Amino acid sequence: MSFTLAIVGRPNVGKSTLFNRLVGKRLALVDDQPGVTRDLREGEARLGELRFTVIDTAGLEEATDESLQGRMRKLTERAVEMADACLFMIDARAGVLPADEIFADILRRKSAQVILGANKAEGRAGEGGYVEAWSLGLGDPIALSAEHGEGMFDLLQVLRPLVEAKGAEAAIIEEAAPETDVDVNEDDEADTSVRMPTADRPMQIAVVGRPNAGKSTLINKLLGEDRLLTGPEAGITRDAISLPFDWEGMPVRIFDTAGMRKKAKVQEKLERLSVADGLRAVKFAEVVVVLLDAAIPFEQQDLRIADLAEREGRAVVVAVNKWDVEDHKQEKLKELKESFERLLPQLRGAPLVTVSAKTGRGLDRLREAVERAYTVWNRRVTTAQLNRWLTGMLESHPPPAPGGRRIRLRYATQVKTRPPGFVVMCSYPDKLPESYKRYLVNGLRDAFDMPGTPIRLHFRGQG
Ligand code: GDP
Ligand code: GDP
Repeated sequence: MSFTLAIVGRPNVGKSTLFNRLVGKRLALVDDQPGVTRDLREGEARLGELRFTVIDTAGLEEATDESLQGRMRKLTERAVEMADACLFMIDARAGVLPADEIFADILRRKSAQVILGANKAEGRAGEGGYVEAWSLGLGDPIALSAEHGEGMFDLLQVLRPLVEAKGAEAAIIEEAAPETDVDVNEDDEADTSVRMPTADRPMQIAVVGRPNAGKSTLINKLLGEDRLLTGPEAGITRDAISLPFDWEGMPVRIFDTAGMRKKAKVQEKLERLSVADGLRAVKFAEVVVVLLDAAIPFEQQDLRIADLAEREGRAVVVAVNKWDVEDHKQEKLKELKESFERLLPQLRGAPLVTVSAKTGRGLDRLREAVERAYTVWNRRVTTAQLNRWLTGMLESHPPPAPGGRRIRLRYATQVKTRPPGFVVMCSYPDKLPESYKRYLVNGLRDAFDMPGTPIRLHFRGQG
């Protein structure tokens, strides 16, 4: 008997999206025996080296004859009975809703083995809901993004012992298949192990910037002169166009916003379109290259998109283009760095690279910066290292004692990567001043070599 995981939760939290990610194209069977499990989809899941059966309880929206709640309850109860464990998903963007509580009750009552997943946790919008998920009393939530494939490593870590305990025959295969989502060699003791992109899972890059910054020129240069981006293929639509290529040994997919933009005719429409494209590109990307025109750097539009990339939790690299026509390079660079620090403090330490898309100069340094930003974005720090670090930070600068009550920071742990996210257990988390939080974030950056990447630090009260 293979290990069976049921994905449960109210409609719209992302169950099907996760199901599809775990099962991929390997959907084994849809059990359509009349009256039995019409609503339960079943498939063979792969996660890292694990193989198991996954049941999806989605499809409740089509409820007609019975109340949604009644059906939801029945379906969930049936799934719980069939499964060895339940992944209970909530929507981190929506937070914990009353409907979620109903599920929590069912799961508690059935005393099922529960894994709590806070989905849609990519970007900043999910942070509140993620922290709220603790209040369900179902253990530590895993921050997931079913859509972007984030949190899969954490899910694997939690599932592995359960699958192993079941001793499911052939559930665990020694070698990870190439298309697996998670690097199973990542060992908890290895602090800097990062799964680098492969041909099957290339690094997703977006080049964003205002019109005329040189995006098309840059992408064409990277792809090779003969590859015409806006090419003759009919019907280049406004949908995502992403181009796979090998960037000197690094498999990447680059999201083309420039090509789309060329379709626009009117200048003002063009501006609007490029912002919308930029937004979409940021959502798609793992690494966002903000391309500036050296002659007019850090315009409002550039700042907005860089800020958005930070808020969405992407790795950011700033590239200053048209460096070939810059006369006073030394002074200009100094000026640029100052503006960068002043205008985008939230991206402290992010790389700034000068390039010429036209001549190709600096593109090797851009590649290096992109690879490094990606590595930092994926960084995982062990709990032991974190707590040694925290002790040192507390000693050299103890937290304040508002109203005479000292805020105690007890324990820190990394809860996610891409970008790195941490939780610190503490007393009176609401009282901790912003300045102290910044002290800790900056300390984390320095101690664990994480410049430039967005760092998420949450403070959670105990009891
Ligand atoms: P289900 O009803 O629980 O099966 O939910 P679906 O899988 O159908 O997802 C509901 C909506 O949430 C869809 O529009 C998905 O694209 C979206 N969604 C799913 N996962 C994520 C995620 O990780 N992040 C974001 N932002 N949206 C997601
Ligand atoms: P996009 O709108 O961001 O895609 O910008 P384009 O790639 O169309 O470039 C806008 C203009 O800037 C074109 O005339 C390019 O030839 C020029 N350009 C792009 N990159 C460079 C560069 O590195 N140096 C110089 N001198 N001009 C460049």
